Amino acid sequence: MNRSPVRRLPAVALLTLALGSAAHARADGPIVVDTAGARFELYLHEAPADFDPTPLVDWLTDAANTVSRYYGRFPASPVRVDLDLFPGGGTVGGSASGDEGARIAVTVGGFSSPAELARDWRLVHEMIHLALPRLPRAHHWLVEGLPTYLESISRARHGKLDDDFIWRGFLRGMPHGLPRGTEAGLDGSTRWGRVYWGGALFCLYADIGIRRATNNERSLRDAVRAIVDAGHDLTDKAELEPLLSIADRATGTTVLTELYRVAGLGRWAPDLKALWRALGVELSGDAVVYDDDAPLAAVRRAITMDAG
Ligand SMILES: [Zn+2]
Repeated sequence: MNRSPVRRLPAVALLTLALGSAAHARADGPIVVDTAGARFELYLHEAPADFDPTPLVDWLTDAANTVSRYYGRFPASPVRVDLDLFPGGGTVGGSASGDEGARIAVTVGGFSSPAELARDWRLVHEMIHLALPRLPRAHHWLVEGLPTYLESISRARHGKLDDDFIWRGFLRGMPHGLPRGTEAGLDGSTRWGRVYWGGALFCLYADIGIRRATNNERSLRDAVRAIVDAGHDLTDKAELEPLLSIADRATGTTVLTELYRVAGLGRWAPDLKALWRALGVELSGDAVVYDDDAPLAAVRRAITMDAG
């Protein structure tokens, strides 16, 4: 593929100042976007000569600030961002890597409207990947589960997503994460639902467990912030259990370590119906119905108010 970056427009710098970022282009190089305390080197591929990159720069700025608010700071810098354009709207693929510096690639429609980009989850998902070091392959469920869980949580505030959207996604998605047939613990899982939603289910139970143990004063956010604060990001490697210890220490609990022993190593099959009843949330057709008298209703409300 021809990966020559598109020429930049001076207007980008002016238009993005309003969003709290500074963008400028180097001669024959990437569009450099300084925002959320991090530097992004943005390369656009397959863009027509007169393409206006402003909506994509704004999208990048917005996603970086969403992730930065959740983590307390953006987890890595500098980050190379490759956007492969196709003549359509929305996004169709993405990846994050850290073995040659922090790097994100997303395939995005060059005709995407700003509203369409603001709704899209993929860039936030890939940015959340940057916050976790590279783990042994057996723990891929946590690598994908964390962004699957956090991308909507981190976008909950600031008018991006409402509670219904988040809980509808969880109520429909989480059952894919339950073990099927002869599947054992989450470790070593390869099935899509088990990896993405099994990992997200782990994160949901961890979030609830930490909140219950601390009277809602600590959450999964404190746990993952501690990993970033310890200097980890996708450019380094780690073993899982020492990482969980760092995260547990930040919450003053052993929730993650204990849940990993049950869910990662054993055949963990939680009763989801009982969980939704306890949280006071269920689907009625397409509508999300809440029960504020449910025993964990306060935990449920706090989860979507935790975006920073
Ligand atoms: Zn992913």
